Amino acid sequence: MRIDRARLAQAMDEMGAIGATERGGLTRLALSDDDKRGRDLMVRWMREAGLRVSVDQMGNIFGERPGAEPLPAVLMGSHVDSVPTGGRYDGQLGVLCGLEVIRALNERQLSTRHPVTLAIFTNEEGARFQPAMIASGVLAGRIPLEDAYNARDKDGIRLVDELERIGYLGPEPCVPRAFRAYLELHIEQGPFLEEEGCSVGVVEGIVAISWSRLTLEGVQDHAGPTPMRIRHDALVAAADVVAGVRRIAREIGGDLVTTVGNLVVHPNIVNAIPGRVTLSIDMRDPSDAALDRALPMLDRAVREACEREGVRFTLEHYWRVPWTPFAPAVVGAIERAAKATGARWRRIRSGAGHDAQYMAALGPAGMIFVPSRDGRSHCEEEFTPLDDIEHGANTLLLAALDLAGRA
Ligand SMILES: [Zn+2]
Repeated sequence: MRIDRARLAQAMDEMGAIGATERGGLTRLALSDDDKRGRDLMVRWMREAGLRVSVDQMGNIFGERPGAEPLPAVLMGSHVDSVPTGGRYDGQLGVLCGLEVIRALNERQLSTRHPVTLAIFTNEEGARFQPAMIASGVLAGRIPLEDAYNARDKDGIRLVDELERIGYLGPEPCVPRAFRAYLELHIEQGPFLEEEGCSVGVVEGIVAISWSRLTLEGVQDHAGPTPMRIRHDALVAAADVVAGVRRIAREIGGDLVTTVGNLVVHPNIVNAIPGRVTLSIDMRDPSDAALDRALPMLDRAVREACEREGVRFTLEHYWRVPWTPFAPAVVGAIERAAKATGARWRRIRSGAGHDAQYMAALGPAGMIFVPSRDGRSHCEEEFTPLDDIEHGANTLLLAALDLAGRA
């Protein structure tokens, strides 16, 4: 039992043409006109494959292939929105591999005990509407529907108005549903599979994440007449914090990764000493205990940097998600499937958030990774060789079949 590699490649080409950039990437922001075109194509393909298609209040699309018995479905899902000048693999590859699994089952006229359902989640990236994974968050009961509807893009346009405009404000309630298993195939977005020559990653869970926000208040003054000895430069303190954040990862070691990704300097002009700086701190580790160690180290690094420069600060640790382990039964099914394909595989952990994270709160979930060339993603250079994709899709097929059961 195998997927059809040429048919999958053809679907990737057709879907990848919608919102294609000149340099081979993709810009298909959530609920944009191109997102609508992509969704319309997916819905057409789902109907042609005989799926019963429904759309919920968050624009999530479900296509069900009925099972022989009235049982909860095996869900295969991901997203079709992208970041600006992103790649053709993040998200839509999982959806297209899910579709190919359905087509392969149809071709064999194979009947399963549990239904097999393809799911497409709205606005996974968070590039247009925040937070990311907003629609699976509503589905899991973690984000109120009203809050999601009122999320606004940078032009002030509300998510609910865009859902309506593109025709994807569906009637089905977006509430927790029972499922037999949730499977998500996704690109790794890191270097480990490629480095070790593996085609498939059997994902054990998603790392714990902590986000903090720091505001430094110094004294804004003229860059000329103000001697160095009386300065309180918020950016100098910030630079110290950036180096301190890197040092925390070095000291704790292991899998901990720490990043200052956003820094806003005020007034941000050539001839003024920066009076105020805000910056973000993102720290991730598979172990919650490592983050429990890292956070007080961050507190200390900030305090010391601010004392040295004589600036005041406010530090908020405002978001924390624990290590999300995937269900052993699902991880086991994926591992057996990977072995059966004959591909080189390894166990791996996800450093990025995915819809699977929210789905894991509702029921048994698991993920399949395929390699990212040079570990790169969220860029036009994003690439996964077709050989690896084929192994990944076959792993998805066999795992779905295992969990859905042959009728
Ligand atoms: Zn993604």
